[in-house]
Amino acid sequence: MARLKKAADPLHRRSQLMRQLLRFREMLPGSFICRQIRCGRPRCRCAQKGQGHPAYQITVRIEGQTQTYMIPARWVSYIRQRVGFHKQFEQRVEEILKINLKRWLAQKQKEPSSGVSPV
Ligand SMILES: [Zn+2]
Repeated sequence: MARLKKAADPLHRRSQLMRQLLRFREMLPGSFICRQIRCGRPRCRCAQKGQGHPAYQITVRIEGQTQTYMIPARWVSYIRQRVGFHKQFEQRVEEILKINLKRWLAQKQKEPSSGVSPV
């Protein structure tokens, strides 16, 4: 029973989420994309069958500029995971924001309404 209560406690949940954020410290920005490209060799299967070679890249938008970075094959799983970390990080931050808003709204409701905002 105590375990269930702890899990439902928003402060406990927030601490848990904060600790989880550390897991994603190697996160990378952008979208992970796999494109089919043609190598240009006339006898290659990509020219004859029309099926390209997979080329992996990430597209990143930083300070209004979109950049594309090619990913060498040996880096594909590493980069894909790091890009995925970003989404997981954001999901946890969203949950923390909801918990904090809910807590603040509850605190606000308990206050007598004096019309003066406390500092
Ligand atoms: Zn080819």
